[in-house]
Amino acid sequence: MSINPIQFQRGLSLPDFLSQYGTEAQCESALEKVRWRDGFRCPQCGHDHCTVFRRGQQPLYQCSACHHQTSLRVGTLFQASKLPLTTWFLAIYLITQAKNGVSALELMRSLGISWRAAWRLKHKILRAMLEQEADR
Ligand SMILES: [Zn+2]
Repeated sequence: MSINPIQFQRGLSLPDFLSQYGTEAQCESALEKVRWRDGFRCPQCGHDHCTVFRRGQQPLYQCSACHHQTSLRVGTLFQASKLPLTTWFLAIYLITQAKNGVSALELMRSLGISWRAAWRLKHKILRAMLEQEADR
């Protein structure tokens, strides 16, 4: 499955970005639209109805037919991460809007995360962008 990096329109200002993707709920709903363009589909059996409940921070989608559970992050570049989607979205925004690239140090400062986390996040996003280019 493709990693579906979220794409932001060119020239989106930071205040506009924050008003559209500033909360975890907004990011979840944007990711849901990318993952299930025509509504939920069970990855196990293809059924189109589910129950949504939360475990910890993340919403879980349980198929009404086979009870398979999935999350928005499964199969995306956010899958193994404990960082909130807001952090990921802001990182993608900063990386894709920067003309001359963004260093891990800048991401660390802007996102308020450790240098190591910033470095990992940057490399995952860049790899996802490259893979997407290659798919075209
Ligand atoms: Zn199912």
